[in-house]
Amino acid sequence: MSRERLYLFDTTLRDGAQTNGVDFTLADKLVIARMLDELGVDYVEAGYPGANPTDTAFFAERRPARAKITAFGMTRRPGRSTSNDPGLAAILAAEADAICFVAKSWDYHVRVALETTEEENLASIRDSVRAAKEKGREVLLDCEHFFDGYKANPAYALACAKAAYVEGARWIVLCDTNGGTLPHEVEKIVGEVCQQIPGDHIGIHAHNDTEQAVANSFAAVRAGARQIQGTLNGLGERCGNANLVSIIPTLKLKPEYANKFEIGVSDEALGHIARVSHGLDDLLNRAADRHAPYVGESAFATKAGIHASAIMKDPATYEHVAPECVGNKRKLLVSDQSGRSNLLAELDRIGFAVDKNDPRLGRLLDEVKEREAIGYAYEAADASFELLARRLLGKVPRYFDVEKFDVSVEQRINAKGERVTVSMAVVKVKVGDDLLISAAEGNGPVNALDVALRKDLGKYQSYITGLELTDYRVRILNAGTEAVTRVLIESADEGGDHWTTIGVSSNIIDASFQALMDSIIYKLLKSGAPA
Ligand SMILES: [Zn+2]
Repeated sequence: MSRERLYLFDTTLRDGAQTNGVDFTLADKLVIARMLDELGVDYVEAGYPGANPTDTAFFAERRPARAKITAFGMTRRPGRSTSNDPGLAAILAAEADAICFVAKSWDYHVRVALETTEEENLASIRDSVRAAKEKGREVLLDCEHFFDGYKANPAYALACAKAAYVEGARWIVLCDTNGGTLPHEVEKIVGEVCQQIPGDHIGIHAHNDTEQAVANSFAAVRAGARQIQGTLNGLGERCGNANLVSIIPTLKLKPEYANKFEIGVSDEALGHIARVSHGLDDLLNRAADRHAPYVGESAFATKAGIHASAIMKDPATYEHVAPECVGNKRKLLVSDQSGRSNLLAELDRIGFAVDKNDPRLGRLLDEVKEREAIGYAYEAADASFELLARRLLGKVPRYFDVEKFDVSVEQRINAKGERVTVSMAVVKVKVGDDLLISAAEGNGPVNALDVALRKDLGKYQSYITGLELTDYRVRILNAGTEAVTRVLIESADEGGDHWTTIGVSSNIIDASFQALMDSIIYKLLKSGAPA
């Protein structure tokens, strides 16, 4: 049976760039565009040419891509001709395969925001589409506030959509700009529009203000739309856009969609989608959402012992799809609730073959429980768990010894008369017969300690150059009689691997030191550094 083609349009670089706290550089944009192209999306909307220097430079620098690089901008301004509108001229001049115009489709916005007549808005849509087609570009029209506009005045909203379609626009995109429309409303309205304009010319652009942007996108597809617009990790202003990282696996793995539709994302590319999602977080210097569907660290994590033993027998008992399909891993959490089956399964995953009657298993379980009683949480710290297990069951080389470290914090007035706080660390490390001393300044005592510790590890230095700390979390706990500090450090390396380590102490520097040491030792171990 031949499947229908469904198109994916990514707007991470345009709508996603509106996210609070996100400011892409040109280099970021080029990296993201390449990631999207490799993933297999059909359109990459890259920005507004002429509106800011980064976007203008992007279009000047554009490189060949499979995806259609799309420029975004407004239709001609009311009362001007297409040849006398500098904004439109910049869009038409940009090196782009496609142009996505945004236009009002709610009569109320036409009057109040645009301060023009309904007819002039329609003429602006027609003229702009025609001008872009004459330039040889594929044309899309984003109908802003389409759903609210349709509820208020269906005839006018439809007239805007039809004006573009009749003029030859390839796609008419229905935008839920305020993000407040519900899935059953989207399905009904898109269904009505598809009776006037063929569904294979209709797209959906949903915002996530009721946490239903993904559901709204699927509702539109069920009603006939054949293009989905969204962003990586659901980036976008306010509550974000429809998350393509959730939409793509659903389209590929759920029979209702997979049997009916074909998309440009291959099975192999789907297997890298977790890496794409985490790659974007790294670029934004954000911690990945552990609970993200499909790609989050917890998406395939199981805690209770009874579930874990069932998963070992057949993963389908507790997993809706296989984690490997999306580049994720099954994780059986080792925690104070865990039984032997969790422990065995987790050991199996990290490549440790242990007989279930091995007495060392009981010792490891006791050790985990004792440590969790004083504040450790191994379910959140996979790498520290692996080191603990390897120390108890096998061997972890003694790569180096930290003979001593000294951390100081000084607050003083600098030469400009400003009050500044400076942190310094000195670390004395023994690597084989070499004694190495490193000193570093940091923006805080833990940062100074980290920088000093990783500055010179002698013969091991080359193994840790790609090591990066991506997140640092601190919690104060009441364990037993005293308050203790738990530090979790998330690290990543050049190969895109992520791991988490833990330290617990009444002293925050000590706790951080433990977690830092575990992270470095884990990296040396996984890189196969010689003992
Ligand atoms: Zn939007």
